[in-house]
This record gives sequence, C-alpha cells and structure tokens, in this order.
Amino acid sequence: MYTLGVDIGSTTSKCVILEDGKKVIASSIVTAGTGTNGPDKSRKEVLEKSGLKQDDLNYVVVTGYGRSTYTYADAEISELTCHALGVQHVFPDARTIIDIGGQDAKVLSLNEKGRMVNFLMNDKCAAGTGRFLDVMARILQLDIGDLEVKAAAAKHPVKISSTCTVFAESEVISQLAAGVELNDLVAGICSSVASRVASLAKRIGIREKVCMSGGVARNGGVRNAMSKELGVEIFYSPSAQLMGALGAALAAYNKVN
Ligand code: ADP
Repeated sequence: MYTLGVDIGSTTSKCVILEDGKKVIASSIVTAGTGTNGPDKSRKEVLEKSGLKQDDLNYVVVTGYGRSTYTYADAEISELTCHALGVQHVFPDARTIIDIGGQDAKVLSLNEKGRMVNFLMNDKCAAGTGRFLDVMARILQLDIGDLEVKAAAAKHPVKISSTCTVFAESEVISQLAAGVELNDLVAGICSSVASRVASLAKRIGIREKVCMSGGVARNGGVRNAMSKELGVEIFYSPSAQLMGALGAALAAYNKVN
C-alpha cells in the first residue's frame, strides 16, 4: 500500500511516499511554499522519483500552513499531529519536539505514550524562526546551508542584542562594517534563534529525549546553540525538514487501516 504525505509550509513544499506505513520510497523538498506552484511541483517530483502515478496512491494526507488550499488530498491534518507522528517514527522515545520552520516555531510536549499533552508556538515574530536566518544569510551573501560551517568555525561568537529582525539586520550590517569576523557573526545569528526558541521550550518544560524537526534543524549552528541553551543533547534526523510530510504519510496509512 502506498500513502502520500504532503506538507505545505510558508517557504517550502514537502512530499513523502510511504510503502505499507513503514518504508520511505521517495521524498521531495521544493523551495516554494503555499500560494505558489511549489506543492504541485513537489507532488510531481515525488511521483516521478517513486515511479508511481497519483492513482497508485491509496490515501493522501495534507498538512502545513497551506493545507486548506490543496486539492489532491483525501484529508487534512494539523502540523502538530503530523510532526509528532513523524518524529516518533524516527525517535519513538521523543518527549519534547522543537519544530522551527520558515515562519514559526513550535514546542510540543509528549507523554510516555507519545501523545501530545501540551504545545507552545511563536508565529508572531520572525526572530526565532527560519525567516531570521534567511534574512541574515541574504545580507551576508551566504547560502542558508553555509551557516552551519561558518558557525562551527567561529572563535569569538558575537551576541546579537536586537530582539527584532529589522533591528538585528542593521546591527549585523554595523558589526560587519566594524570588522567583526563573519564566522563569529554567523554563530551569533544561530545562537540568537536558538535562545529565542529555547525560552519557549523552557516555558513548556524540557523532558528528554529532545528532538528537533523542521528546516532549521538542518542547521548545526542552531542545533548546537540549542543544546547549550537547554543543557541537553538534541536529536535530529538528516530528514528533519520532512518530518511533517512523513507524519502525514503515516496518518494516511493509519486512516486506511
Ligand atoms: P516551512 O514548513 O514553514 O516552509 P521548513 O520547515 O521547510 O518551513 O523550514 C524552512 C527553513 O529551513 C528556512 O527558512 C531555512 O532557514 C531552513 N533551511 C532550509 N534549507 C536549509 C539547509 N540546507 N540548511 C539549513 N537550513 C535550511
């Protein structure tokens, strides 16, 4: 049986095809989110990679910020449920999930049975989301994927004191003009995101195992800073950005069963 999970985010569209609720046979990430042709591009890409046709799919679940605009799905499910399902598939003993996406951050608390018992979300402010990192990478003329390496090479990470993305943008430009090392600046930028989301996580109460999901989990600079802020090991999958789509594909499998 084949199920498709589609996660339509603010910045990216993700698809995962699962075989019999267990094996990922194809996935796709397209850097274009809701309101664009990203969701359709991602769907076509994942079908092509799997060698399947839309009619071969037994059930399709859509999740994410743009889920209500999607017409190829049998059901819609919330991102919280899908991220919890996806992360638990990879880390069955996860108790805290920190999901940082392109325009929001969420912290989910799970009980011993893996059921979500609480969550907190920041969707009001770009600081503490992928958006902050995207803006800073653009100013520094770096690819988003380069931040991790630069942060790891920092000798004296700087502290970004502005709490607002717009002010932080000017602060970073001034620091650059003042001759601050690029690596030190990048480490400060990653720490700034981690510390904002960590305060959300502390409010909900940290229980191990702590796992990160969402696109920002791909950034080792943020993961390391998060680990320091919270004083715990952070677990993540190299497919962290696909956790919502994976959870949706799992939910689709559960629906059929
Ligand atoms: P959404 O679902 O809201 O569209 P995602 O969970 O897909 O968001 O995360 C998008 C964010 O992931 C981007 O804003 C960016 O900061 C980060 N990101 C994307 N690709 C990479 C990468 N290769 N390395 C590090 N971070 C990345």
